[in-house]
Amino acid sequence: MTPRVRPDLARLADMLGRPPLTRFAPSPTGYMHLGHVVNALYVWGLARALGGRVRLRMEDHDRTRCRPVFDTAILDDLAWLGFEADEGHAPVDRQSDAGRAYADALARLAATSTVYRCRCSRRDIGGHRYDGRCRALALPDAAGLSTRVVLGPGEERALDGLLGPLVQTPDAQCGDLLVRDRHAQWTYQFAVTVDDLRQHITLVVRGADLASSTGRQVRLARLLGRGTAPVFVHHPLLAGPHGKKLSKRLGDAGIAELREAGYTPARVIGLAAAEVGLQPEPQPLAARDVARLFTDP
Ligand code: GLU
Repeated sequence: MTPRVRPDLARLADMLGRPPLTRFAPSPTGYMHLGHVVNALYVWGLARALGGRVRLRMEDHDRTRCRPVFDTAILDDLAWLGFEADEGHAPVDRQSDAGRAYADALARLAATSTVYRCRCSRRDIGGHRYDGRCRALALPDAAGLSTRVVLGPGEERALDGLLGPLVQTPDAQCGDLLVRDRHAQWTYQFAVTVDDLRQHITLVVRGADLASSTGRQVRLARLLGRGTAPVFVHHPLLAGPHGKKLSKRLGDAGIAELREAGYTPARVIGLAAAEVGLQPEPQPLAARDVARLFTDP
């Protein structure tokens, strides 16, 4: 097993110092597929292997893309697979219910950092680093304007159980960070950082596509008063033979379709584990046994 797929458990335990609280944080913008199963088996596998706990968090901060039907289907598939959260499932913890916490966090941030209104659209910025052009305008808090925070210069460092030490310069990457958009929606970066802080998450296990967000989240958490950053594990994503996401290759590999095709939960989990390289063959594996993928010699 290559170290890029399976973290060294003893080193990870050392980085953490105590059993972790991690989270499974799906966005209900689509049905659950094998990529989510890979994330779930890393989340539950590492939590259980380290004697830790899992919190469920439905990341539905984006009202335009999230649908109740996906939310329900994800919870149903998760239960069918046998992944049970220790926290945040009864009632289900949803970002859409946490507006108050985000507003309070923004007020705290504004008391100690530079927060300002911005009138630039995504199109104005064109996917580049935001150059802070609205900072000096002192625009009022009005409808149709977004809100940004000045991150400030300097590096952020974080420990990653698979990627090694992460060193990022968030201000150079993204400029002043968007915390609330023009439609008054909290952004992913802000909501996830506030939640990881207020829920005392100590281990963040997610796909490698989110690794570049780490520095800005660590910085934002620091500005919000977090002393110690969480430990991270950014795991590989499923890729087909041509680097395509496996979800496409297996006809979007919706868990619902696999269920209908007669797969058992253990077969789905075993398949996901094999596809990501955590076991050599797709032998069935029950959700309660996924820690084995990380503890077996
Ligand atoms: N909700 C995000 C997703 O489904 C994950 C966020 C995170 O783990 O930081 O991609």
